[in-house]
Amino acid sequence: MVLMETNIFNIQKYSIHDGPGIRTLVFFKGCPLRCEWCSNPESQSFEKQIIYKKQMCSDCKKCLESCPEGVISASNNSIQLDYAKCKLCFRCIETCPSGALSICGQNMKVDEIVSLAAKDKPFYRKTGGGVTISGGEPFANIDFLIELLKGLKVERIHTAIETTGYTSWDNICRSLEFTDLLLYDLKHTDSHKHEVYTGVKNEIILENLKMLDTTGCEYWVRVPIIPTFNDDMRTLSSIFDFISCLNNIKKAELLPYHRLGVGKYAQLGMEYKFDRINTNSTAFLVEMKDYLIHKYPDIKISIHE
Ligand code: SF4
Ligand code: SF4
Repeated sequence: MVLMETNIFNIQKYSIHDGPGIRTLVFFKGCPLRCEWCSNPESQSFEKQIIYKKQMCSDCKKCLESCPEGVISASNNSIQLDYAKCKLCFRCIETCPSGALSICGQNMKVDEIVSLAAKDKPFYRKTGGGVTISGGEPFANIDFLIELLKGLKVERIHTAIETTGYTSWDNICRSLEFTDLLLYDLKHTDSHKHEVYTGVKNEIILENLKMLDTTGCEYWVRVPIIPTFNDDMRTLSSIFDFISCLNNIKKAELLPYHRLGVGKYAQLGMEYKFDRINTNSTAFLVEMKDYLIHKYPDIKISIHE
């Protein structure tokens, strides 16, 4: 079983933001949601993707000849890609001398990830850290996820899963034996609005969270604060009314909207629907946090850094 592979789009070491202590973050490629504000658009497709970084391109046009599918064309001192026609043969990448073309995603085995993560065990031990499996949606690749968690547990590494909650309860149940912490996203309580902005309804997410609360597994709820979607007091109160009915929540984090991933959309040939949406000011976020702390004194609420 440990020979099975999955598509990983990033492994980030020495992170201090996604779970306790110093952590290695493992990002699975593929997600059933399509959040319009997503800062990791490369996480959405389950397939590998081709990335074109215009600023690195020397305009040599070598890639044009190498592509058998006619994906690449030249115009106005730069090249254009018709991403929909790409068959992912990656010949163009081999011919590109400047690194402007690259692949997003690589097949990795459980053992490879575990041994990479295990190298940092001294840091985990010293800081109470470990490995956080993120995405994408890790539960969308449940068999690999379970094998990876088992492998990490053999190494006695603390494990966390960052999830949208959009999966079957059976999948979550299967993971709990090998999971120390769940970082659980809660975006909106209104199912219609949730569907308009993320592509899926939210009933299963809310139900799974209620079930998770009864298991004794440690979990934190994370609420992304997204302008025009949920950054008003009424909507946030509705979310925190729901959270306040949970008995075993350890803490709630507010995740400020940011635009750090905007440039990746163009590189992947994707549309960024939130292009005209600005970030919230720090003062606004602090005001919101203070309001929620005052209204829900029993919940430990902080702003995610
Ligand atoms: S990956 Fe293959 S099909 Fe896609 S653009 Fe490059 S050469 Fe063409
Ligand atoms: S081969 Fe690379 S550097 Fe040359 S035009 Fe194509 S993307 Fe640009």
